[in-house]
Amino acid sequence: MNMYDYLIVGAGLFGSTVSHILTQHGKRCLVIDKRPHIGGNIYTESINDINVHKYGAHIFHTNDKHVWEYVNSFVEFNRYTNSPVANYKGKLYNLPFNMNTFYQMWGITTPEEAMRKIEQQRKEAGIVDPQNLEEQAISLIGRDIYYTLIKEYTEKQWGRKATELPAFIIKRLPVRFTFDNNYFNDTYQGVPIGGYTKLIKEMLKGIEVQLNTDYFSDRKYFDSTAEKVVYTGEIDKFFNYCYGHLEYRTVSFETEVLKGTENYQGNAVVNYTDAETLYTRIIEHKHFEFGTQPDTVISKEYSKEWKPGDEPYYPVNDDRNCALYKLYKKLADEQSKVIFGGRLAEYKYYDMHQVIASALNLTKTI
Ligand SMILES: Cc1cc2nc3c(=O)[nH]c(=O)nc-3n(C[C@H](O)[C@H](O)[C@H](O)COP(=O)(O)OP(=O)(O)OC[C@H]3O[C@@H](n4cnc5c(N)ncnc54)[C@H](O)[C@@H]3O)c2cc1C
Repeated sequence: MNMYDYLIVGAGLFGSTVSHILTQHGKRCLVIDKRPHIGGNIYTESINDINVHKYGAHIFHTNDKHVWEYVNSFVEFNRYTNSPVANYKGKLYNLPFNMNTFYQMWGITTPEEAMRKIEQQRKEAGIVDPQNLEEQAISLIGRDIYYTLIKEYTEKQWGRKATELPAFIIKRLPVRFTFDNNYFNDTYQGVPIGGYTKLIKEMLKGIEVQLNTDYFSDRKYFDSTAEKVVYTGEIDKFFNYCYGHLEYRTVSFETEVLKGTENYQGNAVVNYTDAETLYTRIIEHKHFEFGTQPDTVISKEYSKEWKPGDEPYYPVNDDRNCALYKLYKKLADEQSKVIFGGRLAEYKYYDMHQVIASALNLTKTI
């Protein structure tokens, strides 16, 4: 006799959504997580009364009304709008590329002039069949924007020359010929008031959760506790890396409390697009919630090559890894007791709203 209907491995957004819905339908769930906290990568920790996004800046955005209503049923969201700023050698530009950026870059004031300028630079480059990321970006946006806001930033992110990166990484570039710094086009956008941990806490209310508990520390025992397992960890680890490791890009953060500084950079996110600055971004966390605390907390974000044992962040969806994932997926499909879901088990970059939609879909099927 199993103690639970479902063992959920991972208290991230996927595991929390699944366990919330299943519990609502009368299923007995046990959630375990190897980390000392709930929330997975959306975890926020209160430091000096500021909700710090411990695993990177997270802004919720979606067009899906149902998903938006679902998250708002747990916590209230504020009206935070993502409008990052780029700093290139001390000069500031608005993102995404819009009329403000074009004014800052060229001093031009009308959409017609901006279109003409970009078209002229695209023509001058004369690239018909882009062979790498550099050629692709120049063929889309011209050389000025590319060399100031894309090239060195992308090279820091990927640890490779833009000429050695495949063209497909940049399919489209968001360009707006309006004075609009809103990064996302979605209807709904915001950050939970009180942080993402509050959201997850509400989702997991009344559900048994064991932290600091690694599924692989006693897999046999954990399997025996429940009739079914929902696994949201790394898929290659589940199968003991039998086909080899799936690769990731990773990021690391240097977080500092700036005592007595009320406002460090005037924006939540500033991207450093030059090569001399080693970090890619500085996040000032209080701005996600319009904080007025007397101190501030900032995190410098560094992009790094991943090696086994590091925190996996971004899947590398190149040919090798896609082929490897297919092999693991085949093994996963053969499992009758275990259901795989979430960014790690599906080896997929998922935004939060997509993770929730996917988890809600899964609960419909089971
Ligand atoms: C830097 C960065 C910024 C992002 N910004 C945004 C954003 O602005 N907007 C947005 O919509 N999305 C953003 N995302 C995406 C967002 O983080 C993900 O959609 C979301 O966190 C995925 O949730 P998940 O539950 O699938 O995975 P996770 O959050 O990784 O949860 C998986 C959980 O499983 C646990 N686990 C793994 N293995 C085991 C094991 N063996 N035993 C027990 N527990 C285990 C892990 O500890 C983890 O807590 C960002 C991602 C990154 C990397």
